[in-house]
Amino acid sequence: MDDRRLETLAVGHGEDPGETHRGDVVSPIHLASTFALPGLDPEMSLEDVDPAEGDFLYSRLNNPTRFALERRLAALEGGDHGFAFGSGTAAIATVAMASVEPGDHVVAFDDLYAGTRRMFETLFRDRLDVDVSFVDATDPDNVADAVRPETTLVWMETPTNPLIKLCDVAAIADIADDADARLGVDNTFLSPYFQNPLELGADVVAHSTTKYLNGHSDSVGGALVTDDDELAEELQFLQQVGLGNVLAPFDAYLVLRGTKTLASRMRDHEANALAIAEYLEDHDLVEAVHYPGLESHPQHELAREQTSGYGGILSFELAGEFDDAKRFLEALEEFALAVSVGGVESLVELPAGMTHEPIPKAEREAHGITDTLVRMSVGIEHPEDLVEDLERGFAAMRGQSVSH
Ligand SMILES: *Cc1c(COP(=O)(O)O)cnc(C)c1O
Repeated sequence: MDDRRLETLAVGHGEDPGETHRGDVVSPIHLASTFALPGLDPEMSLEDVDPAEGDFLYSRLNNPTRFALERRLAALEGGDHGFAFGSGTAAIATVAMASVEPGDHVVAFDDLYAGTRRMFETLFRDRLDVDVSFVDATDPDNVADAVRPETTLVWMETPTNPLIKLCDVAAIADIADDADARLGVDNTFLSPYFQNPLELGADVVAHSTTKYLNGHSDSVGGALVTDDDELAEELQFLQQVGLGNVLAPFDAYLVLRGTKTLASRMRDHEANALAIAEYLEDHDLVEAVHYPGLESHPQHELAREQTSGYGGILSFELAGEFDDAKRFLEALEEFALAVSVGGVESLVELPAGMTHEPIPKAEREAHGITDTLVRMSVGIEHPEDLVEDLERGFAAMRGQSVSH
């Protein structure tokens, strides 16, 4: 295990010059789909083709650029095994496939990423006969109460999207352990810079590298990291053979490049998000702000214990109706109206009209997703420019002319 710190690992780990790229400071983009063998060796089996030794056979199995990224991501999360997929969704589906069979049961947070929730409902519950219980995991007792003898997977996200709720990973890891179930945590929102679920007791960590790990809104990808050798073998089978879902070399290069600045970006994202959260909290057109860095967040203490920072994503409720939120959002110039999070540019979205629009309104509202709940992914621009932009939005809500 490499005990250097995240900032150092993020810059170079995994890209060490090896057999195939002696002397390169950064990993080249290896586009080859196949690799010539030196000859035919009757003693050789597929198992002997070891990318760590510079041996590659076919790029779906292993590719040098993807392999560099997989080693990097494993090191950043403090795990032994990393896997890079074509999307975060593919990463989550793969670990779920590795963890359940028909008749099994999953316990999941009820405020999951909307796509993950749909995957569990439509693919696993409706088609694969895997029952799924969605619970309010802000209280670990609710997870303990939902666990059954046939529970094989507990799936968490913290903080969640869009209500920015936390769950106590260490407490839930104990519950999963007692139940002989696997605990997976989607760590997309905080990145390994602020939170390390494996250290807190999770068995596997998932990422949408589309977000902070790549960080520049120009690649879609996903990753899994684990230190469980048996699970790693199953993940490798599913990634390379069972499903054949791998991240392409060019995207692997982009994420390798993105991770180099992860620590600096995360610090800037957080400083800006905190400044904006404080500004919003004092505003008379804002009814509630959800950001774990605020003392008013009901789980601020848990955030302080479990994470080394609060991240760059927050949500807040505007006073008024859908049309007020619409006027606010459409007046913004620095914040692009777009789904997704984690890029250097600031984005804003209205869950009720965008990411969570497919959920029926009554169900949405019962869950706290009102028509004026706004989610923000705060970028690394100058915070005063961002606050001035929000003032433009509030002026539009009041029906004042908007200055540019
Ligand atoms: C974006 C996201 C996903 C899905 O990742 P894709 O790369 O879009 O497939 C999963 N979980 C969280 C928390 C996300 O933000």
